[in-house]
Amino acid sequence: MNVQITHKEPKRILNPTGGFLQGYTHSLNPYAGCVYACSYCYVRRMPIALFRKQEWGTWVDVKQGAADRLRAEMGAARRKGTVTIFMSSSTDPYQPVEVQAGITRALLEVLVEEKPDFLFVQTRSPLVTRDIDLFLRLKDRIRISMTIETDLETIRKRFTPAAPPIAARLRALRRIIEHGLPAQAALAPVLPFSEEFPKTLADIVDRVCVDDYFTGDGSGGRRTEKLGIRQRYKEVGLEEWYGPDVHQKVVERLRAAFADHQILLSQEGFLP
Ligand code: SF4
Repeated sequence: MNVQITHKEPKRILNPTGGFLQGYTHSLNPYAGCVYACSYCYVRRMPIALFRKQEWGTWVDVKQGAADRLRAEMGAARRKGTVTIFMSSSTDPYQPVEVQAGITRALLEVLVEEKPDFLFVQTRSPLVTRDIDLFLRLKDRIRISMTIETDLETIRKRFTPAAPPIAARLRALRRIIEHGLPAQAALAPVLPFSEEFPKTLADIVDRVCVDDYFTGDGSGGRRTEKLGIRQRYKEVGLEEWYGPDVHQKVVERLRAAFADHQILLSQEGFLP
């Protein structure tokens, strides 16, 4: 797929949060747009994508000069009080363009100097391991969350064909944990998985977060309905995995490998 990459200077880089992210003072998005183009991505239904008139996944805006902006804004934000940052809410900070553009790494370099009270890093990309050196310098105030919605590549390819393979994400999460960094696997949104998945995760990580379309898309599942995700479950004959009570069944399965306090539900798994 051809991707249009544009460089733009952002007017601001730290954005006040609300709703699902109300536990944070700010969100931080190094890019606008996301080439992973997940079928269920709720950002598809948000103004940033709807007004663009280009298909979600075919464009990325690189936020040129983001690090300088962040340095200026961090000073002001810290003078006002606690600063807790969610990176990122509407893009993946480690999508492929980051290899060349390095915006995420530049932002982290600023945050190592101008430390926030807490930084949550949300990604599905193994590239995140490149920045372990910087994460270690924020070790007491960071959590890295790796999206791993399933262990079945056939399901991953059906719902998120452009996203990194599951095995690579598991390896990346293991490396992060081996460095002693606080981390979790985010089954968000949870997709159909095999009997072995809970044990596979428990061999690597001691904290999992489970989310589904009905609690996690910000609209009680309506955005997801509009994206036609129910139909994808029908096509693979797995409709029993689509519904508001699925996360409860998933929690039951995870209990075979995790203690209750290691399983977090929806928003609580993403809080500072
Ligand atoms: S990685 Fe996240 S932001 Fe990117 S398309 Fe997938 S769900 Fe959306």
